[in-house]
Amino acid sequence: MEKKQFQAESKRLLEMMVNSIYTQKEIFLRELISNASDAIDKMYYRSLTDEALEFDQDHYAVYIRADKENRELVIEDTGIGMTKAELEENLGTIAKSGSLAFKKENELKDGHDIIGQFGVGFYAAFMVADEVTVISRSVDSEEAYKWHSNGTDGYTIAPTEKDTVGTIVTLKLKENTEEESYDEFLEEYRLKAIIKKYSDFIRYPIKMDVTMSKPKEGDEEGYTEYTEEQTINSMVPIWRKNKSELTDDDYTQFYQDQRYGFDQPLTHVHVSVDGAVRYNAILFIPENTPFDFYTKEYEKGLQLYANGVLIMEKCGDLLPDYFSFVKGMVDSEDLSLNISREMLQHDRQLKLIAKNIKAKIKSQLKTMLKKDREKYETFYKSFGRQLKFGVYSDFGANKEDLQDLLLFYSSTEKKLVSLADYVSRMKEDQKQIYYATGESYERIEKLPQTEMVADKGYEILYFTEDVDEFAIKTLRSYEEKEFASVSSADLKIDEDEKEAQTDNDDHSELFAKMKEFLAGKVKDVRASKRLKTHPVFLAAEGEITIEMEKVLQAQAM
Ligand code: ADP
Ligand code: MG
Repeated sequence: MEKKQFQAESKRLLEMMVNSIYTQKEIFLRELISNASDAIDKMYYRSLTDEALEFDQDHYAVYIRADKENRELVIEDTGIGMTKAELEENLGTIAKSGSLAFKKENELKDGHDIIGQFGVGFYAAFMVADEVTVISRSVDSEEAYKWHSNGTDGYTIAPTEKDTVGTIVTLKLKENTEEESYDEFLEEYRLKAIIKKYSDFIRYPIKMDVTMSKPKEGDEEGYTEYTEEQTINSMVPIWRKNKSELTDDDYTQFYQDQRYGFDQPLTHVHVSVDGAVRYNAILFIPENTPFDFYTKEYEKGLQLYANGVLIMEKCGDLLPDYFSFVKGMVDSEDLSLNISREMLQHDRQLKLIAKNIKAKIKSQLKTMLKKDREKYETFYKSFGRQLKFGVYSDFGANKEDLQDLLLFYSSTEKKLVSLADYVSRMKEDQKQIYYATGESYERIEKLPQTEMVADKGYEILYFTEDVDEFAIKTLRSYEEKEFASVSSADLKIDEDEKEAQTDNDDHSELFAKMKEFLAGKVKDVRASKRLKTHPVFLAAEGEITIEMEKVLQAQAM
């Protein structure tokens, strides 16, 4: 039987691929810079085994040059280069990754610095260019070759001149159309921004001529412009640095550079995990509530890096909703990415990381609560509401995670207290954790139904936020002590309730009359021992208190 190869219309395939796997045009630069960085890495690995090769750090860099007149953008590197055969194999075959092969050949289990693996990144260039030229000279060759393609009818390879080892990729940018502009990729500020965004932590310098200005010499007014070669990327990511070398200011600077917020971080956690899944993370708890935090527009998430290259700006799966205020980043070498690197292929590793991060945030908050109460209260003012929502949502599944992070105002302490604090102060005969709900502390203080409970010397938690009571109802109990509203019909303060029952029996006629009179307004009228100086109070029967009813009614409207 004759075996035939599939025929593919490569032009169509290329178009389809390039336009369907990437959502943003700007990432072509990330891909080309990643290739350049890989090429330098390969030189480095080669130098480890080849004594004739010396790896002189200063020589290795990536250069970006824009030529507006000719609409050309150049990405040059001093990396390992490509032979004629490699140009053909690696750039002439879609989905052929020389880098993946390199990792395998050299058994670089820890060669995880090399980014390439899919063999398609290079073609992202055709999203913005209609012609691509690659001039390369391999470290293994005296000759240089020029690869050229307009993306439509294949490519050509011809000998050319190049004195040094390395690769020069030149893109002839597409002409603007009515819908699309490509000019931006020739603008200095735009290129800088893209490099900063995706490639800031590439380990080799990415250099560019940057326009500067200085006051004119002598007495002349005005400024003269000149260009200066600058390294655009910061190279060593802060999360790979040793914690002991970093100050709080370094972290704050990073928070601001990354635009996590306009405020200052209240605290940070720097995590380096080298277990089942390896990752570094820097997590921040902001000081202030972002203006859109409690709206639908707010998007939770951490930046996700694979090997120092930004993959996702906001990876929501890394944070539970109740910690949605946390900002920061995660970098891992162990992520399996999909081909466009815009998504993750398996989320097993991600789930592990997320679980781990959740635990870190929790313990950071607990420590803060214990060691720096003032700071914790600042945090709680901004985000406590979110924690309470967290308790209430998912049918209380997060109870264990969150109950110790809650604070409520206490009638006896006149400040915010934790549930643990409350329980530790409970009176010997006290069976429940009491709370009262109202608009403000002052108003709750005046509620008739707080009188008796307070009189007994019991502490009462004051709830002023809509979510408070719902959260507490979800918790049901804390350390086996049930929560009870001072307004609920059945307070477990025994002897008083029994006495009230006798009163009920004695005055049953009067109460029946009152009920009749208030028909449709109240369900029952009863005697109570809970009052001292007030004649009457309103109470609800069952799970839903009057305050909760108000909230539910408001929500239903
Ligand atoms: P990947 O980077 O995932 O391997 P690419 O399509 O980006 O896929 O690149 C294909 C291959 O071309 C790379 O694996 C590498 O072997 C080669 N290559 C691309 N750019 C360069 C470069 N600047 N220097 C040396 N080799 C390169
Ligand atoms: Mg690549």
